[in-house]
Amino acid sequence: MSDKHFPLDLQRLRQLAERFPTPFYLYDEGAMRANAKRLVAAFKDFHGFREHFAVKALPNPFILKILAEEGFGADCASLAELILAEKVGLRGEKVILTSNDTPAHEFAAARKLGALINLDDISHIDFLAANVGLPEYVSCRYNPGALKEGNAIIGKPEEAKYGFTREQILAGFARLRDKGVRRFGLHTMVASNELNADYHVETARIIFNLAAELKATTGVRVESVNLGGGAGIPYRPGQKALDYTVLARGIRAAYDEIVRPAGLDPLALHLEWGRAITGPYGWLVTKAIHRKSIYREYVGVDASMADLMRPGMYGAYHHVSVIGKEGAPATETYDVTGSLCENNDKFAVQRQLPRVEVGDLLAIHDAGAHGRAMGFNYNGKLRCGELLLRPDGSVLPIRRAETIDDYFATLDFAACEGFR
Ligand SMILES: *Cc1c(COP(=O)(O)O)cnc(C)c1O
Repeated sequence: MSDKHFPLDLQRLRQLAERFPTPFYLYDEGAMRANAKRLVAAFKDFHGFREHFAVKALPNPFILKILAEEGFGADCASLAELILAEKVGLRGEKVILTSNDTPAHEFAAARKLGALINLDDISHIDFLAANVGLPEYVSCRYNPGALKEGNAIIGKPEEAKYGFTREQILAGFARLRDKGVRRFGLHTMVASNELNADYHVETARIIFNLAAELKATTGVRVESVNLGGGAGIPYRPGQKALDYTVLARGIRAAYDEIVRPAGLDPLALHLEWGRAITGPYGWLVTKAIHRKSIYREYVGVDASMADLMRPGMYGAYHHVSVIGKEGAPATETYDVTGSLCENNDKFAVQRQLPRVEVGDLLAIHDAGAHGRAMGFNYNGKLRCGELLLRPDGSVLPIRRAETIDDYFATLDFAACEGFR
């Protein structure tokens, strides 16, 4: 038995799979809302606290609407993500554009929405000014370089393409001020899937200190700091979730120690978490369609890496449950595979599982962030749909599965007929 939970029993899941053929994503609205409320409660004493959900993690308007109701804004990095935010009524400072290598039309769309634009590079000050004009309020993304040790996934900050160097941040804000910008935000993101609260507190210290230095050396007073995303989730059974209360306490201590004496209080605290907001509350549900015995034992399922690429791309662990056999002893060792012609299309490698029969339904856990969103169409595979488990127990389809017509929509077969 593991501490990994799936919200439906076998009978209810079978009924659901009759209405909506596998594979599909299932998201638990009640659990998402409870998690959002825990985060907001932990940071309730912070001035202007706001979580801007990283839309890329789960770009579905139903989910954004749920999170907006819980008080969250949106963190966008593309035109499509800005449009999604707008569609659910998010605009103004509830939306932040944290992008990089940004095309002019995306800056323009953000400006039109009144979104806070978070610049990734010092050269973007003039680029933004020339192409769409500078808004009153601008944020800049800091890359601490060798000052901060990277974590395993995001890598070392000095090797990361993002943000301004320290010197550039100081010069950049002075330049923004001289060009008439009146309100300033400071951003950094140096972690990915980091479960250690101390790591995030340390990031807060770095950014608070930089805000203080900025005020002391240039007179520019930032009104908001954004710690970016990167909060981890316990993908493996037995791992401990990030404790929001411990995190908030640590950041509060850093705030009292650095921000208040620097005369920067009140300074608004923003986050742009994705994974921790929706990740644990989504499952990819798939059916075993083949068993294969060669040098290893394989369970072939009807989902593929096109639906969830994290295991194939990063070797990421996603827990797998055979629904209805959660209590059964894990007597078998399987590779659980999808159908792509790529040997890394495996949801699990040499995984201990109960005996799986063709027709069994499997839940791949912690797929609610960077799951469906990272799907692709290689090998002509169609991405599956998304279902929402409502707090009243009903299930609402919130995205249909792709069809073969969707796949061919960008081709003109009629034109090809006449092509010689
Ligand atoms: C990906 C990303 C996030 C969200 O990261 P999570 O690890 O999902 O919390 C937030 N901000 C930026 C700029 C990102 O690129």
